[in-house]
Amino acid sequence: MQLNSASKEQLSQWQEELKVKHQQFKNQNLKLDLTRGKPSAQQLTLSDGLDGILKGNYKSADDTDTRNYGGLEGIAEARQLGAAILGLEQDQVLAGGSSSLTMMHQSITFAYQFGLNGTAWKDESDIKFLCPAPGYDRHFSICEDFGIEMIPVAMTETGPDMDQVESLIKADQSIKGIWCVPKYSNPTGIIYSDDTVKRIAKLGLVAAKNFRVFWDNAYAVHDLVDHPKPLANIMAACIAEGTEDSVIQFASTSKITHAGSGIAFLGASKSNLAAFKKHLGISSIGPDKVNQLRHMRLLPDINALTAHMQQHAALLKPRFDTVLKHLEANFSDNDLGEWQSPEGGYFVSFDSLPGLAKEIVRLADEVGVKLTPAGATFPYGKDPQDRNIRLSPSFPSVEDVDATMQVFVNCVKLASVGQKLAITS
Ligand code: PLP
Repeated sequence: MQLNSASKEQLSQWQEELKVKHQQFKNQNLKLDLTRGKPSAQQLTLSDGLDGILKGNYKSADDTDTRNYGGLEGIAEARQLGAAILGLEQDQVLAGGSSSLTMMHQSITFAYQFGLNGTAWKDESDIKFLCPAPGYDRHFSICEDFGIEMIPVAMTETGPDMDQVESLIKADQSIKGIWCVPKYSNPTGIIYSDDTVKRIAKLGLVAAKNFRVFWDNAYAVHDLVDHPKPLANIMAACIAEGTEDSVIQFASTSKITHAGSGIAFLGASKSNLAAFKKHLGISSIGPDKVNQLRHMRLLPDINALTAHMQQHAALLKPRFDTVLKHLEANFSDNDLGEWQSPEGGYFVSFDSLPGLAKEIVRLADEVGVKLTPAGATFPYGKDPQDRNIRLSPSFPSVEDVDATMQVFVNCVKLASVGQKLAITS
C-alpha cells in the first residue's frame, strides 16, 4: 500500500475495503488487550518452585535466621545475585523488597528531601529531569508527583541523543537527573551503545554535584536471543571518569520470578549507598529476607538465572515474532509505520505517520482491542508528533496476539488512508 503514489479513487477504494474489514472485526465482539507489560501466567508458573522451597530451613549462607528483624542491606547471597545482574560488587548492592520502582521513588524522595551526599533538591529553586522519550510512563509519573519539570530528549537507536543531553546539562545546573533504561529500553527495545554509556558516565563531570543518572536496568537479563549484545558496564565507565557517585542503578526479579513478590536491587557507589541506607533505615528495620532466601534457593547463581531466563524467552519469543510478522508483512514496503525488532525486553515500539497514534488507538478500541493510550510514553502524556504506540505482547496468548495484530494493522491502514484522503480532497 503506497499512499503517496495512489490516486484519490484508489485511496477511496482502499478505505472502503478497510472499513468492511473493520466492521467484520466489530461483529466478532473481540475482547483483546495489548496494554499490559506483565508476564503471562505461564511465565509466572516457571517460578512456582518458590512455594515451600525452604522446607523449614530459614538460615541463610552466613547462618542468619531470615525470619527475624534486621539486615537492612538484604542477605549476602541475594546481594550477590543483584551484583551479578548489575555488573557490580556485592558490597555495592542493596537487596530490598519486591519493587525497584519503589526504590527509585525512595531515591528521589531522599535526594529531594535530604540530599544524597549533596544539597537537597528542595532547597534549590527549580528541579528538572531529562526524560528520553519515548520512555517509561511510571518514571514520568514520579517526576510529575514531585513537581519536577520534565525535559524530553529524543531517543535514537544508540540511546538518548547525547549531543542534546550534554548541551542541556552544560547549560542548566537545575537539571538533577536523567532516566535511563539502558538495555531493551522501554519501549523502543534498543541497547545503549558503548559510546552512549561512556558519555553518560562523563555527565557527572559537567552536571550539578547533586545530579544523578537513574539507571533502571529492568531488562538486564531479559534476552530473547541466544547471543545478546552486551551492555557496557556503567560503573566501570564511571570509575574511569571518577564519577561513580553520579549514577544509581536499579533492577529487580519482577519479570524473572513472581512479578508481585520478588526482590529489587539498588546498586551504587559506597557513599551513595550509605546515604540511601541512612534514610531507608529510618523507615524500615529490614526487608523480607525469607523471600530473598526462597529466591536464592530457586536461583542460586547467575547460571541458574540464565537457564531460567531461557525458559521465559521460549514463551515470549513466539509472541514477539507474531507482532513482528504482522508489522513486516504490512509495513515493510511502505512508510505507514516504523519500528525496531527488539532482541529482549517486553515491548515493541511502533511509530505511525505523524498525527495518527490517537486515532489508531481509538479505532482499535472501537472493535474491542485495547492499546496503550497514545502519548503514555512521553512526559505529561504528550507525544508531540502523536505517532508512538507501545505494543506489549507478553501477557496474551500467541493466538490473541495474532488476532490483536490483525486488528492493529487494519487500524493503522484505515487511519493512514483516511488522513491521506483528507489532505487530497
Ligand atoms: N522499570 C521499567 C523500565 C519497567 O518497564 C518496569 C515495569 O514494567 C519497572 C521498572 C517496574 O519494576 P519493579 O516491578 O521492580 O517495580
